[in-house]
Amino acid sequence: MTAVADNTATTTTTSAHTLREGAFGNARALACRECGHEVELGPFYACPECFGPLEVSYDFPVVTREEIAAGPRNIWRYKALLPVPDDIEQSKNTEPGFTRLLKAHNLGRELGIDNLWVKDDSTNPTNSFKDRVVACALSAAIELDAKVFACPSTGNLANAVAAAGARAGIKTVVFIPSNLEKPKQVNSAVYTDNLVAVNGNYDDVNKLASEIAGEEEGWAFVNVNVRPFYAEGSKTLGYEIAEQLGWRLPEQVVIPVASGSQLTKVHKAFQELISLGLVEDTPYKVYGAQATGCSPVSVAYKAGVDAIRPVKPDTIAKSLAIGNPADGIYVLDICRETGGAVEDISDDEVRQGILLLARTEGIFTETAGGTTVGVLKKLVETGQLDPTLETVVINTGMGLKTLDAVSDHVGPRATIDPSYGAFTAAGIV
Ligand SMILES: *Cc1c(COP(=O)(O)O)cnc(C)c1O
Ligand SMILES: [Zn+2]
Repeated sequence: MTAVADNTATTTTTSAHTLREGAFGNARALACRECGHEVELGPFYACPECFGPLEVSYDFPVVTREEIAAGPRNIWRYKALLPVPDDIEQSKNTEPGFTRLLKAHNLGRELGIDNLWVKDDSTNPTNSFKDRVVACALSAAIELDAKVFACPSTGNLANAVAAAGARAGIKTVVFIPSNLEKPKQVNSAVYTDNLVAVNGNYDDVNKLASEIAGEEEGWAFVNVNVRPFYAEGSKTLGYEIAEQLGWRLPEQVVIPVASGSQLTKVHKAFQELISLGLVEDTPYKVYGAQATGCSPVSVAYKAGVDAIRPVKPDTIAKSLAIGNPADGIYVLDICRETGGAVEDISDDEVRQGILLLARTEGIFTETAGGTTVGVLKKLVETGQLDPTLETVVINTGMGLKTLDAVSDHVGPRATIDPSYGAFTAAGIV
């Protein structure tokens, strides 16, 4: 693609297609995050005035807690707050969301945090939080009459796109770095014939996707040309946390950072709930978690600078391995403004984070969750997070997808013959 500022170059749908009334629900326009310039709702993602990222803005009606509570036990209970039609066909999507918010007594005790919760998004349909964003992107793709549902991915996104496309009956093509963990490859390939492995890292894959989006008609790349709609799906994590706490905001929340989209949207969700009068306007701190091997946002945070210098990722936390994070600067703003922080940990600490969560709460997280839990621990130890405040840590993915990260570190305590004598000889109890 040559000029992202030229919106016609980012159009994925045939020009003949006209949007139906209410295709994007209460969404009003796409507004530039940098200059506020507005463009019509459509497959656009860059501001024609300043190249800044476009974001969905709304004219919200009055929304009550009761209306939301009466909705389905998935993200569509918040459909009035999302860029989706009121008559969205739930059966055409994977119905993600409304995942468990678990009180983490044991992990809290271990870390010295009085009041700790785990928002466990590993139980989504394809076992990561990506099912939320993909569900919103799919709705946009259908309304825009896209022919192909596609993405560049670090793994989880490809899983979610391939599954959602299969269920909706739309052709999918998913692109991944060729060195991706085998389980994540299989988890896409079972749903689609069109898993494309690219020799390069995620940033290379992403560049290729942008090029294809500019050249091919009728492709909806969930995190490229329909990114504004996709990204809104992450707000549902914030809505759910507030609703599950009994319609109030936590005092601290720790969120993993890849592109930074999820973190910015959880913050946006909290702000919307406040402005809609659904929660009280209480202060909260937002913390970002990265692995040191791909920590451009954490590096900028610690250096006290606004610019993010892209890096070449080298970490076992592959789902967070975005070296040039699109929303990194907004993550810095939010973490600084709310009094939170951005922190990073080594791959070894990521592994320890996985085991810590597994052994305290019985939740097997992937490397992204190991990063978030490990960073939570470091934030407490370094005095950056207040252990007396109510804290939510988000587990965004499932450990079975990144078995390699821990498979050499855990295993049978002993291998014995099937006799009582052999058991007692092994000294297990
Ligand atoms: C994609 C992903 C993230 C981070 O998402 P961004 O919105 O790009 O920051 C976190 N955890 C997991 C498991 C992911 O797959
Ligand atoms: Zn702009």
